[in-house]
This record gives sequence, C-alpha cells and structure tokens, in this order.
Amino acid sequence: VVHAREVHMSYGDVEVLHGVDLDVHAGEVSCIIGPSGSGKSTFLRCINGLEPVHGGSLRVLGEEVGWDLSGGRAKAWHPKRFAQFRAGIGMVFQRFNLFAHMDALDNVACAPIRVKGMDAKAARAMAADQLARVGLSEHAHKRPHQLSGGQQQRVAIARALAMEPALMLFDEPTSALDPELVDEVLEVMKALARDGMTMVVVTHEISFAREVGDTLSFFDEGVVVEHGDARTTIASPQHARTQAFLSSVK
Ligand code: ATP
Ligand code: MG
Repeated sequence: VVHAREVHMSYGDVEVLHGVDLDVHAGEVSCIIGPSGSGKSTFLRCINGLEPVHGGSLRVLGEEVGWDLSGGRAKAWHPKRFAQFRAGIGMVFQRFNLFAHMDALDNVACAPIRVKGMDAKAARAMAADQLARVGLSEHAHKRPHQLSGGQQQRVAIARALAMEPALMLFDEPTSALDPELVDEVLEVMKALARDGMTMVVVTHEISFAREVGDTLSFFDEGVVVEHGDARTTIASPQHARTQAFLSSVK
C-alpha cells in the first residue's frame, strides 16, 4: 500500500527527510516513533500528497506520488486524479480540526456530500453508522465544544472513515488528550485494526504499538534508523538511538 524508497523532502533549502525507506502492506498497522523534529509528520504528509517529494520514489495505493518540480514549484498531478487519490486516504491529526459550527453528524457527513457528491440523506445515514462505530451514537447532535477531547477525536476518526479510505494515517492522535481520554481513542483504533484497516500511526503510545502494531519504525534526523516487527523491536531494539528513545518514553 505504501512503498517508500530513498524519499527526500526539503522545506526550502533545508532537507528534513534524507532518504526514507518504508513499506506498509495491506492490512498492516505500521507504527512510527521517534524524537521531535525527526520528520514523522512530514513523512505522513508526503504519503497523502500534502507535501512534495523531492527525491526517491514513493508509491501509495498503486500510484507514484510524483511531483513536477520544474519551475521551482511543486505541482501535483492532474487535480481531479489528485483529489481522487487524496479521498482514498484518511488522516487524523493531533488536533481534531472539526468544524465548530456543525454537529458531530454533519462533521462526518460533509465530506461525502461535498467530495463524493453523495445525497445528503444517504450521507447522514452513513454518518450515523460511522458515529455508532466509534461509540458516539448518543452524541450525534452535539457540536464540538459540547464534546470531550476524546469524543472529538473519535468524531475526527469517524469523519475520516466516512470517505471509505483504503489507508488511514494517524499523527499522534492521542498526544493532545488528557490522560484519562487516551484509552477511548486507542480502543477505536484497535477496533479499526481488527477490522483489517491499513494504518500508519505516529505515536508515543508504546503499549499501543506493542499490542496492535505489526511493524515499528524508528525515525531519527530524517531517516528510518530501525524497522522491524513491532514486538521484537520494542523488546530488543538493535540500535543505540532506538534503545535510548524507547527507554525515555516507556
Ligand atoms: P514532532 O514529534 O515534534 O511532531 P516530527 O517528527 O513530526 O516532530 P516534523 O514535523 O516532520 O517532525 O518536522 C521535521 C523538521 O521539519 C523539523 O526540523 C521541523 O522544524 C521542520 N519543519 C516542519 N514543518 C515545516 C514547515 N512547514 N516549514 C519549515 N520547516 C518545517
Ligand atoms: Mg509531528
């Protein structure tokens, strides 16, 4: 589903990904850990085309995420094809980014209506199903400010799922939450993993990676320093930097 080889990416003159290699296969939960500034978010943003790839090869969902870099400006593919590609990838951020003026149901229903042209009634019915899936049926008509952080994040997950993505990207989905709200979000993610969703999860929740992760990649300074089976890597990291990082977050 994701096949990254020697992926380079720069912000202006500053290169922040120095050749990232990573494979994610269908149905896998691929966890990414690493220190702040190591390029984890940037790599996720490359996967769904939010940032250009300046070198190497990145194949996502069978498409080469190619960029026309001529003229010094990154240009994605044909807009329609790009929109289609983007619609197949769900992304959940640290901050929930819900629409404040819409209730939970409309937050979930709006992209299928706007992007896929789905009939509003059908979209709301589907949104109700997605909210049920994340355990929020009773809260469908609340606006974001009437929901806890954990509930808002579950709405954000339901909103991503509403587009029926083939791949879900999570960027530290629990790190902005109060500790007592973390588990309800992780439980939803675990259920998704059990349903066979292909997921790339940037997280500091090592216990989640151990329990649910198939693979674990340790990012440091814009490269993947270590990659392997999640449980094995957590139990016995091979590189000194991975060891130091894991002992600091465990
Ligand atoms: P964190 O754990 O803090 O979220 P990260 O591993 O996700 O860190 P990135 O956000 O990918 O790291 O950042 C990688 C590097 O790129 C950092 O040095 C950061 O300062 C830089 N960077 C990120 N976004 C931008 C931007 N929009 N413009 C310029 N530099 C950026
Ligand atoms: Mg980040």
